Amino acid sequence: MNPSIKNALISVSDKLGLVDFARGLCACGITVYSTGGTRKHLEGEGIAVRDVSEYTGFPEMMDGRLKTLHPKIFGGILCRHDREDDMRAIDQHRIEAFPLVVVNLYPFEATIAKSGVTMAEAIEQIDIGGPSLVRAAAKNHAFTAIASRPEHYAEILAQIEATGGTTLELRQKLAGEAFAHTAAYDRAISDYFESQSAPEAFPATMRLELKREEVLRYGENPHQEAAVYSNPREVGANLVTARQLNGKGLSYNNLLDLDSALAIARGLPDCGVSVVKHNNPCGAASSDNIADACRKAMDGDPVSAFGSVLGFNQPVDAAAAEYLSTPGLFVEAIAAPSFSAEAVEILTSKPKWKANVRLMQVGEFTDRRPPLQTRWIEGGLLVQGTDFGDDPEVEWTVATKAQVSPELWAELKFAWAVCRYVKSNAIVLCKDRALIGAGAGQMSRVDSVEIAIKKAGERGPGSVLASDAFFPFPDSIHEAAKAGVAALIQPGGSKRDQEVIDACDEHGLPMIFTNRRHFRH
Ligand code: 5GP
Repeated sequence: MNPSIKNALISVSDKLGLVDFARGLCACGITVYSTGGTRKHLEGEGIAVRDVSEYTGFPEMMDGRLKTLHPKIFGGILCRHDREDDMRAIDQHRIEAFPLVVVNLYPFEATIAKSGVTMAEAIEQIDIGGPSLVRAAAKNHAFTAIASRPEHYAEILAQIEATGGTTLELRQKLAGEAFAHTAAYDRAISDYFESQSAPEAFPATMRLELKREEVLRYGENPHQEAAVYSNPREVGANLVTARQLNGKGLSYNNLLDLDSALAIARGLPDCGVSVVKHNNPCGAASSDNIADACRKAMDGDPVSAFGSVLGFNQPVDAAAAEYLSTPGLFVEAIAAPSFSAEAVEILTSKPKWKANVRLMQVGEFTDRRPPLQTRWIEGGLLVQGTDFGDDPEVEWTVATKAQVSPELWAELKFAWAVCRYVKSNAIVLCKDRALIGAGAGQMSRVDSVEIAIKKAGERGPGSVLASDAFFPFPDSIHEAAKAGVAALIQPGGSKRDQEVIDACDEHGLPMIFTNRRHFRH
């Protein structure tokens, strides 16, 4: 039991239920001390109140920034009633003990919820003395009861009416709620500040708040557990919150591949389709209609396209769906902004694989892609900006004697758009705005060149070649010339650039330097 209560400090913004409570306290012989607004409110109801300023001998000032921040208040809340020295101190300094504190805070959240609130107005609604009173009383709950919400009044009053004080059990419960109250209050303030400042790409500490959407059957391999989380801050078209129109649940590998497929497709000009296997494009094409783009993309590497996933940058229509029904074709999943009803009908009827084909309707693409890319490593997380967006063509230079015709320029630009999505070392051959050969993930660049040429086969003559990073030696140029490649695009930046340029000049090949590398590891 705490000492019988002589004084109560009341300073509240939310006046709900206060009058009856204060009247009840007065009826128990308790003297109520209050700050300006609270005092006026209670006096208006005929309740006798002692003014805090009159008690402290210190006026409220600075528009209420200073009201109760005074030792005569805090000493009376924090004093330990079983400690002689504490009690002597309050006596000596003429401090009244306050075994009951009734405080709720400035309505910060309600203020910032109003439209058009300025930062200055919001800041004035940050309560300073209030949380201090609440925390001081909660800390000293062995002797002090803290009512931080109107819901607490009835129980407190009932105990006081019955015994003149409150139980330790109640005070401890109230203290816990009080700390939760001030913690939530400070969190609301910090969230507000965060919302006001321009988001920092790499804050000093990061709080990841992701929502688990699904536990997946397994990860990359059956013995690996896996789940997919959505980022509640990500708005706009995305795979994780896409609507699935048909098929079994997506696997971890499906999601990874579809993400790449969509990224490639959204970088393609006109109607564009990408075909992805093991997170690398084996097909990608643009056309003036989506069905033709789809056909060209699947033709890029028909053997590899078996069991692939597809990304579309335009709605899937009936003609594209008809094409995908060609006997011998088999795709696992398709992601697109939308599917026409007819396309869905065609894609989900015979042959048998189509019953399972996963159709992901992601919605209209926006310009935004996730700003950050992350990868866990032992001991922490690697974070980088996403490699997204067009490269500035103004920075491109023709490094060779042979110049680039507008047609070749467009072809090279297409090849460049695809190349960045191929694992390094990446080489692509493209022709007629379609990928016809990709060399991916090799540890030497010339090996990637050879693979891309082999994949293109007879289609190689007249194609263009893109390389995600510079050629360290001229050997790749000689290989490309042998295959009939018509032009090249690469970032440049090798110390042997001149040897590479000389090799192009020797073969009469034009070559663009983009001055920007696109490693993908
Ligand atoms: P009143 O309406 O009684 O003038 O003020 C009540 C409000 O003032 C309460 O929400 C309380 O938390 C807050 N308060 C009490 N003391 C102080 C103080 O010293 N500084 C500030 N900023 N607010 C206080």
